[in-house]
Amino acid sequence: KLHALTASQHSLRPQAISPCALRVIKTLQENGFQAYVVGGAVRDLLLQKSPKDFDVATNATPEQIRRLIRRSRIIGRRFQIIHVPCHDEIVEVTTFRGHAPHDHHSQTDEHGRLTRDNVFGSLEEDATRRDFTANALFYDPVHNTLLDYFSGTKDIAARRLVMIGDPVLRFREDPVRLLRAIRFSAKLGFTLDAALIAPLRELGNLLAPIPESRLFDELLKLLLSGQARSCLELLHQFGLHTHLLPHLDSLWTNPDHVHFITLALDNTDGRLQDKKPVSPGFLLAALFWPSVQILWQTRQAQGEPLYPALFGAMEAVLDEQRKTLPIPHRFDGTMKEIWGLQPRFEQRSGQRPSRLLEHPRFRAGYDFLLLRAASGNTTPELGVWWTTFLEADPDTRPSLLVQET
Ligand code: ATP
Ligand code: MG
Repeated sequence: KLHALTASQHSLRPQAISPCALRVIKTLQENGFQAYVVGGAVRDLLLQKSPKDFDVATNATPEQIRRLIRRSRIIGRRFQIIHVPCHDEIVEVTTFRGHAPHDHHSQTDEHGRLTRDNVFGSLEEDATRRDFTANALFYDPVHNTLLDYFSGTKDIAARRLVMIGDPVLRFREDPVRLLRAIRFSAKLGFTLDAALIAPLRELGNLLAPIPESRLFDELLKLLLSGQARSCLELLHQFGLHTHLLPHLDSLWTNPDHVHFITLALDNTDGRLQDKKPVSPGFLLAALFWPSVQILWQTRQAQGEPLYPALFGAMEAVLDEQRKTLPIPHRFDGTMKEIWGLQPRFEQRSGQRPSRLLEHPRFRAGYDFLLLRAASGNTTPELGVWWTTFLEADPDTRPSLLVQET
């Protein structure tokens, strides 16, 4: 049952839509097409949050869109998406997609996973193939109407995450929705609908055949959601971390490790809250640090010298992770440098502290040290010393050095 909410029945205003998206929608409508703001932007506006970006859905085909909007570019192979770049934003325009589960165009493999998802459809079909009711609202800013096929507005008001259709079938179609459920629940502060609980607990194994790049993308979205801590807590609660970061299992039994990781996650969430930049490499370094540290100590106890033991431990931890979900090489440098700098902070005599200040990665290494100091992973005093040394006048720094014994 479609609810078409008119101006007095919803809280959206056309002025809240980015001028770029508004222009795209007007152009399409003036040429006889349907065009709506969809997905996250509508949901976020109803929650009084400012949307990250604006997505537009239309019944115009990619070719028709391209002909009407000159700056637009077609991207994507599996399903063509149109990007319309404006000043500082890109509006994503997609043609309505359809696939009734038994439609002859759509195909599922033996696990029920969608193998083709590239058939154009009607507005209603496009709404039906979306994941959660809160994500399936269509807003027409020209006529100021909000189309709601699945009571998404009620679920948003009740702060409830509800799957469209049968959760088990929808999770089988696309298992990444398991992780999306976690992310939206944490990020929006929505309770998980009761019908999601058992599937979240039971269907984790469906993630095994998902391409690593897609899983890693989703992991980053969880970590950079602004609610990384709740995301990891929920992943753990449902046992879904085993498919992303299995090493956390052994760390969760040790309160000191939990404390360190929690502080790192809170730190990232806080920075995002303050609109400060965050480095995924830094956060990944933190998530694996306790494991690196444990192995480093073991190797030293077996007689390996300090640095070879540390570098060996790094490789071994990343190798072990590779069996589940490889961390892309672009993060290796940051992670290893941050880890490799940690023992150098122990050196507080002679030329070494001043030389360390000059290291291009000093800041990241120092921030990491402060996290360790704050969580009891190293002595608080070491963090204080480095802060004093860093902030001191270069002339007074020598007086702070610890005398060599
Ligand atoms: P965010 O603010 O985090 O970007 P979003 O809702 O915009 O949230 P996207 O991943 O950008 O999420 O996807 C845009 C929309 O596309 C969603 O709101 C949803 O309607 C639909 N969608 C995306 N991924 C899926 C999926 N795996 N299954 C079903 N629908 C999906
Ligand atoms: Mg989005």
